Amino acid sequence: MADPTDRVPENVLGTYYVDTQCIDCDVCRDTAQDNFTRADSNGYSFVFKQPETQGEIDLCEEALLACPVEAIGNDG
Ligand code: SF4
Repeated sequence: MADPTDRVPENVLGTYYVDTQCIDCDVCRDTAQDNFTRADSNGYSFVFKQPETQGEIDLCEEALLACPVEAIGNDG
């Protein structure tokens, strides 16, 4: 389970976040590419934009469930 106190610093403020357990596997960036991207210099993902539509929320939830190390959190 993602730890809201261990978020990577690049996340924008809001409900969804990535924590430091991320192993840079690309699943979230493929699944919800309008919300997740890669911190290239650090080798992990982060939320660059919070979802604004139901479609984006659905894809963020899909990414959260698909993340192999449970590094994505939703504290909404
Ligand atoms: S799916 Fe999880 S482990 Fe993979 S890049 Fe995204 S946050 Fe990191």
